[in-house]
Amino acid sequence: MSDVFDIQRNEECICGSGKKYKKCCLPTVEKIETELMRKLSDDFSITAYAKDLIRVISVMFGIKLDETQAEAVDVEKLSNIIAQVWNAQEEFSEDSFLKLNNDIADMLRENENLKILRIPGSILAHVELDDSEQVDMLLTQIADNFTIEENLFMLAYLIRNNNFTEDELEKIFHWIFMGLIDETHQSFFELILQASIEDINEAGKKFEQIIKEEDETACQVDIAETHELFREYPVFEEYFGMRMLEDIEDDLEFILKSEIDFNFPFFVIYGFFLKFTSVITQIFLQNLPHVDINKELNFMDMLFDAESAFLKQEIVITESYGCITRTLIEAMEKSEDNDLREKLAKVTEFFLLPTGAHILAIEKIILTSMKKLIKNLPQAIDDSPIVLESIEQLITDEFFDEYISYLESKGLNEQAEFLKEIYEEANIKCQIEKSGLKEIFDNLGLKLDKSEA
Ligand SMILES: [Zn+2]
Repeated sequence: MSDVFDIQRNEECICGSGKKYKKCCLPTVEKIETELMRKLSDDFSITAYAKDLIRVISVMFGIKLDETQAEAVDVEKLSNIIAQVWNAQEEFSEDSFLKLNNDIADMLRENENLKILRIPGSILAHVELDDSEQVDMLLTQIADNFTIEENLFMLAYLIRNNNFTEDELEKIFHWIFMGLIDETHQSFFELILQASIEDINEAGKKFEQIIKEEDETACQVDIAETHELFREYPVFEEYFGMRMLEDIEDDLEFILKSEIDFNFPFFVIYGFFLKFTSVITQIFLQNLPHVDINKELNFMDMLFDAESAFLKQEIVITESYGCITRTLIEAMEKSEDNDLREKLAKVTEFFLLPTGAHILAIEKIILTSMKKLIKNLPQAIDDSPIVLESIEQLITDEFFDEYISYLESKGLNEQAEFLKEIYEEANIKCQIEKSGLKEIFDNLGLKLDKSEA
């Protein structure tokens, strides 16, 4: 039997209110469920599978996901759709089943609202999508690692906030029903996977067109058109970006180990460091017993989420991006080493195409620059008279105030405000003890003090 939305009365409600389920959404869910059962059992005897479907639909429409009032749920309409889905599936032949599958996949691709339901392109990038064996294996992994509940919530949100036709709703319920009957929920994820792959293939063909219209030798790509394509097929953007990143990873590594310096303005590195430190100390101060920084992926995930939120901010992205492309192009012009020039060209090309994978590459470059800075202390900061002697200084008010005054004296007020916010957040959340910090950094391979290293 399905264990979807298997929530106990005394557990925290799944709507995220923090209240107990029985004191939050349960009464509404139960009300919908009871009414649906009553209406449907008039027409046919309800099997365990049908009961499952009814329960899941009741939760989807009864949970307070947003301001949409559950009172407004049209139970009459819902029960009609469920009845149709139920009756139709009893008469299914293999052919009609296949047709239904294709119809649902088409709907997933064509309905703008449903485009949000895709397998992340970053996961798809590791698989050869025309190799059916690999795709089958991927499907198994997805069904193991993704929860159907999350997707059902997303669907519930979409259904309740957008106008879906009755025909579309029927297909969606069919799709959910197939997923529930299949214990691994693979049949549910299979259609999302299919839609994702078709998106990528279609977008890939369109992308070739964009390149072909230009001069093929120079690989000139119309950035505006590429943007438009990425907007239309977000899953392709992720997929393509990750593929490209994997493609340049070794070259980037090589460049980072070479003599080329990416001279980021110090406020970017400083902000990155503060964010980094604040997340790490937060985790440690909370003393999470289950977090082992050497093993837990969980830990790296938290860190990465915080860093990528930092990097996605306009001011950071603009500065980093400008600095990176400028450095790469200058290095390319200066270098007399053909091999290095080729690598630089490849990495530059990656940065010129606007994909989300840039964040990952930028993170790597900033991290390397930060490590370089730490290794080469004392260092003069930007073109100021300020000299950073040790990394501990970065978390002292004296150093911070001095640097902020410098930024303000240069008229860089936006940058100063940006840093102040991060500094405040880092300070409130963690009263950092230097010894603790040192240990943490040592564990991460960042030496706090080179004289001790
Ligand atoms: Zn609730």
